[in-house]
Amino acid sequence: MKVKLIETIEEMRAFSKDAKKRNLSIGYVPTMGALHEGHVSLMDAAVKQNDVSVMTIFVNPIQFGPNEDFEKYPRTLEADLEKAEKAGIDAVFFPAAKELTANLYSYVDINNLQNNLCGLKRPGHFRGVCTIVSKFFNIIQPDNAYFGKKDIQQLYIIKQMVKDLNFDINIVPCDIVREYDGLAMSSRNRYLSESERKDALILSQAIKKAVYLQEQGETSANVLINCVRTEIEKIACAKIDYISIVNEQMQDVSFVENKNILALAIYIGKTRLIDNHIFGETLCF
Ligand code: AMP
Repeated sequence: MKVKLIETIEEMRAFSKDAKKRNLSIGYVPTMGALHEGHVSLMDAAVKQNDVSVMTIFVNPIQFGPNEDFEKYPRTLEADLEKAEKAGIDAVFFPAAKELTANLYSYVDINNLQNNLCGLKRPGHFRGVCTIVSKFFNIIQPDNAYFGKKDIQQLYIIKQMVKDLNFDINIVPCDIVREYDGLAMSSRNRYLSESERKDALILSQAIKKAVYLQEQGETSANVLINCVRTEIEKIACAKIDYISIVNEQMQDVSFVENKNILALAIYIGKTRLIDNHIFGETLCF
């Protein structure tokens, strides 16, 4: 079936109301577009687990800082619609920014969980994410919403927000999808030059080294972080934004236990890439 392109809140609400009236479950995948196989894995899960599936494509202006890449963020609607259709998505909601952000006076903020990692490095980022995701939740009224572990802090923050604000929505975490050589898929990978693409491999390789050390019995977070740092510093054009090991509350830990998360943000040239690993989960690269 052809994917339906929806551009207004009114039409999106009508689509969801109709599905609810017919007792159909709604799966929802939020994205910023420039879709890749990582997004496709979320779409596949949504299509499989729900009667109806909706994806949003929205480059959210209020989650970008003033010196970030909002303007140059890739926008590839035609190709995205093809991918959505192929995956079996029923509707793509693609609102204009003003539909969601004009005359906006209420924001959703989350304490604690945003005080470290990307939340610390990108002030206001998660406020922008939570506000817009809440709006989409209210408009689309999904039963299940799909989030990638690639953005691990976002996943934990959204889970907390859903609990705190009593959204009746099941959050489904999806594994990180990687390129053949281990690089985590990201819309921002297309910013990388050929040589930067090779250098970017250091993120997953450094994670692999640290996980290997941990599996040998090393539990000191400092030792594991230094192991990652040493690897990253081998690459001339790599600049560390952060390398941290945190618990599920996003607090730094001293000794590593299962479910703790090794998370990193590294600039390769001008491109900021993130990656992570949850200790205790299988490393598949
Ligand atoms: P984005 O379009 O980058 O905002 O991402 C939309 C959703 O796709 C988020 O839940 C991301 O965590 C998820 N995602 C992005 N890249 C990947 C990946 N490589 N593997 C799995 N999920 C991903």
